[in-house]
Amino acid sequence: MIVTRFAPSPTGFLHLGHAYAALVAREAGERFLLRIEDIDTGRARGEFEAAIFEDLAWLGLDWEAPVLRQSERSAAYAETLGRLDAMGLVYPCFCTRKDIAAAGGAPHGDEGPLYPGTCRGVQRARTGSYALRLDAAKAAAMTGPLEFFEHGRTVAVDPLRLGDVVLARKEMPAAYHLAVVVDDAFQGVTLVTRGEDLLPATHVQRLLQALLDLPAPAYAHHKLILDAQGRKFSKRDASVTLRELRAKGVSPAAIRAQLESP
Ligand code: GLU
Repeated sequence: MIVTRFAPSPTGFLHLGHAYAALVAREAGERFLLRIEDIDTGRARGEFEAAIFEDLAWLGLDWEAPVLRQSERSAAYAETLGRLDAMGLVYPCFCTRKDIAAAGGAPHGDEGPLYPGTCRGVQRARTGSYALRLDAAKAAAMTGPLEFFEHGRTVAVDPLRLGDVVLARKEMPAAYHLAVVVDDAFQGVTLVTRGEDLLPATHVQRLLQALLDLPAPAYAHHKLILDAQGRKFSKRDASVTLRELRAKGVSPAAIRAQLESP
């Protein structure tokens, strides 16, 4: 049984890129789940969550109940983080963005410079404002070589691809990679479909699954739907939100046809 999910963040209205991601997940899944990635409580808004349900239903999608909300999952994230911590794989990092940029010479990752490891191995009390990072090299030494399946092909995991990623922050029980791995396993997701911009993230996510003895889903990253200038749609670009298209009289069938044309 193939179980897929669509996992939007309620920080804006859904646009064509989200519609495509949701349709791909729906079509690939025999069971299709919805997860609201509202862990960033400073940015998530109930109004956007309500709009997600409305817009997806308008597109003609149905999903299984219950919907999982990350804001209700803090206990599960804390328990998981505690396990990684007990394995000696978590360290507090007090660097600001500026510190990281100024460290220079750090290897470049997919999204800018990787964390240079300034706080790794430094004993410091967890007080004040800090992030908790994964010691990726130590983690990789524990798991040994890993792989994941992308569109049915085997990909060797590069555990250092994103460096020592942030797992949580003092004020946030889990950052993206930790939350997604815990929740995909909790929801029994067997096939993760999502935009190809998240392919690099799969390496560290597979590492976390192995450390935590979680089942590894298969992956099928899909192309991104780009605007006329070839850029990713932005949440600020109101013209392509599903609500705006609906208000202009565009039908769900027309949107599906547009997205499904090669
Ligand atoms: N919430 C993420 C996003 O909006 C998706 C995460 C995932 O599919 O792994 O891009």
